[in-house]
Order: sequence, then structure tokens, then C-alpha cells
Amino acid sequence: MQDFYKVGKTLGEGSFAVVRDVTCLKDNSQWAAKCIDKKNLSKTDEESLQVEVDIMGKLDHPCVVHLREVFDSNRTFYMILENCSGGEMFDRIVEKEKYTEHEARVAFFQIIKALEYCHQQGIVHRDLKPENLLYSDKTEDATLKVADFGLARLFTNEQSIQLMTTMCGTPGYVAPEILKNENYGSSVDIWSAAVILYILLCGYPPFYDDNNAALFRQIKSGSYDFPNEEWDAVSNEAKDLIEKMLVVSPSERLDIAAILKHPWMEKEDLQDRVLNKSLDQMKKFNARRKFKAGVMVARIAKNLQAFKK
Ligand code: ATP
Repeated sequence: MQDFYKVGKTLGEGSFAVVRDVTCLKDNSQWAAKCIDKKNLSKTDEESLQVEVDIMGKLDHPCVVHLREVFDSNRTFYMILENCSGGEMFDRIVEKEKYTEHEARVAFFQIIKALEYCHQQGIVHRDLKPENLLYSDKTEDATLKVADFGLARLFTNEQSIQLMTTMCGTPGYVAPEILKNENYGSSVDIWSAAVILYILLCGYPPFYDDNNAALFRQIKSGSYDFPNEEWDAVSNEAKDLIEKMLVVSPSERLDIAAILKHPWMEKEDLQDRVLNKSLDQMKKFNARRKFKAGVMVARIAKNLQAFKK
């Protein structure tokens, strides 16, 4: 890899990967190298990585992070990805001074377009969450892109979706059918997108409990509401869309075509709906989220070191 790219600063860290800024020596273009230490990978992790590479290699859409090439060395596996220098979605939103429902819709629309494309290609993401949503650059009209396909799976065929039964996803965003250990399909991504939309509108998640068992109970029963004053500023159309997406029964959950046709997607005057109370909540939520992610990465690093001794 070093023969072809000059390595720069660290852009982010995940459970198994460090992502670095790199410059192509041949054409001076900027990329992000996801560097995965191979000695930390179990057999299952290696399989997930192979799936991620296979899937990302097949995808080509403005709202999906592009994979340029991969390098496999003795110790490290490198994925050369489109550099999303605009950073994570919530990090960027919380920097705003004024935030409107229209801006929430623009972000949500891009997530839905990415999912529409992935599902058409027979791919379910299965781990849609704020950490996996990155902006292309720092400009005002940057594109939001879906990244990290480590948990994505291919459908075998479009007509009869091969139902996937592996437990996966991140607790607060995971669909009830996964928690109930039922067969599931692409509608799990619709559920996660609805959870993200809910947070985009009020600044906190629909399902929350420090105790995972209690959190799972809430999700499985679909128990959420629109509490507090943040929701007073939000349009009824937005609440209606969430109510039709956060439906426990996957077959009754809105599909992508219906989401795109929903009145909220075309509603005028959303620019005038200022969500500054929600923005304050989002700042708190984002700070907690970043803190927890930092603790998690540190814990994993510590466990790996203990394991190596
Ligand atoms: P996880 O903990 O979810 O398994 P991971 O180890 O697979 O994560 P990623 O989520 O892919 O790692 O990347 C870790 C972080 O690096 C991201 O949260 C993001 O901040 C940053 N990052 C990832 N891909 C890119 C990219 N293409 N451009 C810029 N930054 C990126």
C-alpha cells in the first residue's frame, strides 16, 4: 500500500479498523484507507470483511461510499475508500446554529436513496446507524453517504428474498424482528432509517434504556411516543411518516417507494420549521454517543492486548 499511497492523519477509529487520510502518489488524489490489523480478526471477522469488500466492490451510487481498491499485506488489510472529509452526520449537524426540518429531510432523503439503490442490488445494510453516515466534504451542499458494509448481506434473489437469521446490528437501531430471532429482510433497514429520522427531528432516540433487556422490550413492542416540547415544533406529516415506518410488523412497515411518495417528502415551508430545541438535545445525545464509542474502542483495545499476553 505504502508504494502507492502516502499515509496522513487518522480520520476515525472503529472496533477493528483505523481509518487514515491517504494521498495517491500517482495522481495526488485524496482517499481514506481503512486499515485492519489482521491478527485481531477471528474467522467470522475475516468472513465479514470479505463480505464487506465484495459488497462495496459491487456498489456505485453517489450516496454510498466508493471502494477504490484493496491491499492485503501480511499484517494489515487495507481498503482504499472515497474520503468522506465532511465527517459523521450528527457531528456536522450539531455545529449548526440554526437547524430546520427541511435539513432533516435532506439528510433523510439521501439515506433513503442509498437504501433504495442497495436494496435494488439485493443488498441489506443491517447496521445503519449515525456512525455509518458520513458527509462527502465540508461544503454546505455535501452529499451524505452510507459507509461500513461489515454487516451487510446479499439477498440470493429479488423475488423471494433470502431471509437472514443472524443476530446483528446496534441495539438502539435494530429492528424488532431481529431481536425476536425471526426471519427478516430489507425492511430492517427501514426501521433503522426511521430511528435515525426520529433523532434527526428531536435530538434523542425513540427507544432508550441503559439496560439492554429493557431496551429490547421497548423495541419488540414498538413502545415509543413523541414526548416533550421538541416535538411541538415538528410537523404532523413528519410524525405520520415515523408512525408508518416504526411499525413492529415488517410487512406493514412502509416500503421505500411509499416513503418517497409520503406527503412529508414534498411538504413546503419546512425551511420555516426551526428545530433549535431539538438541536440542543442532539448536542447532548451526540456528546454521550461519542463518549460511549470512545469507551468501547478503548475497552476492545484493552481486551485485545490482554488476549495477546
Ligand atoms: P465498527 O466499530 O462499526 O465495526 P469499523 O471498525 O468497521 O467500525 P468504520 O466504522 O468503517 O470502522 O470506520 C471508523 C470511523 O472512521 C468511522 O466512524 C468514521 O468516523 C471514519 N471513517 C470511516 N470511513 C471513512 C471514510 N471513507 N472517509 C472518512 N472517514 C471515514
